[in-house]
Amino acid sequence: GLPPYDDTNIFARILRGEIPCRRVFEDEHVLAFHDINPQAPVHVLVIPKGAYCSWADFSARATDAEIAGFVRAVGRIARDLGHETDGYRLLANVGVNSGQEVPHFHIHLFAGRPLGPMLA
Ligand code: 5GP
Repeated sequence: GLPPYDDTNIFARILRGEIPCRRVFEDEHVLAFHDINPQAPVHVLVIPKGAYCSWADFSARATDAEIAGFVRAVGRIARDLGHETDGYRLLANVGVNSGQEVPHFHIHLFAGRPLGPMLA
């Protein structure tokens, strides 16, 4: 099974306002902010406000309203950042083999340049 949620993780601290972030979007269910170590001209992290470790945990336990709100927010953020036309990449690391570093579910949104092969 999955490990329990660790509320000392860095994104939990950002959600509690204990650590600053460069916010790009926020609503009832979602927070989005710039990655501290960007891998593309646009590198935004989109996270649910609920305590979910990963996609596995979020998809299993989140309410339909949280899931719908999250999915719609990701699309809206990409559009609001101006990358609906030139395109973008969404990526979620889940667990050990993915190299997931922060155990609070997040989607990476990359844009602003040709992004190259998927697993480079
Ligand atoms: P993961 O490997 O878990 O999918 O990605 C974690 C991401 O969080 C990395 O891209 C890393 O640069 C970013 N990150 C780690 N700590 C912080 C932080 O304190 N603030 C921000 N904005 N991003 C962070």
